[in-house]
Amino acid sequence: MTEAMHQILVIEDEPAIRNVLKVLLEAERYRVIEADSALRAEIETRSHKPDLLILDLGLPDGDGQAIIRRVRAWSPVPIIVLSARAMEEQKIAALDGGADDYVTKPFSAPELLARVRAALRRNVRGPEQTSALKLGPLELDLAKREARTPSAEVHLTPLEYRVLECLARHLGAIVTQNQLIREVWGPERLGDSRGLRVCIKSLRAKIEPNPHKPRYLITEAGLGYRLRADET
Ligand code: CA
Repeated sequence: MTEAMHQILVIEDEPAIRNVLKVLLEAERYRVIEADSALRAEIETRSHKPDLLILDLGLPDGDGQAIIRRVRAWSPVPIIVLSARAMEEQKIAALDGGADDYVTKPFSAPELLARVRAALRRNVRGPEQTSALKLGPLELDLAKREARTPSAEVHLTPLEYRVLECLARHLGAIVTQNQLIREVWGPERLGDSRGLRVCIKSLRAKIEPNPHKPRYLITEAGLGYRLRADET
């Protein structure tokens, strides 16, 4: 499938911003559907089955969180949330609720388009394709639980593999601390991020060329982490 065939639903009540998004996306040959309210968003999502949702969290007839919950009940379609800069809690709630990524308003066009491409790519790749990753010289096979550079094997603990697996399922997108803790340590450990921080630190020591300036295992301050991989 080529990018030209991808259909994106833009849910935004401000006409000016909606129009900017439409122009930007259509210039990249995406097909754009528009919705200006939560109600329209649900109708358009069900009738058009878009490949991606770009969702403004502040809508006149209901908040975006409710849309995410309702869409997630029946569809895994990627959702990129648009939100204002100061709304950290909103962003965390949206990501924990099942959004894939967020872009802060005012957004930069190249950044938005990069997130769109990453979200669409994730949607196309099956789980078998996300298990092999290349992080610089490091080749990871998550299915076999192998990690190696051209010169050596790299030993990762089971916990480290599980953290990487969780991040790799959302490759290129943010995974919140709560998501990671729930999936790897279990829901009873929610709110206790010490284990996660220790694990991230030791992973960086093993997989990053320079652990103090991470290139692959990125911190999203106050939100969580994002795994970037080289294109394979
Ligand atoms: Ca709005």
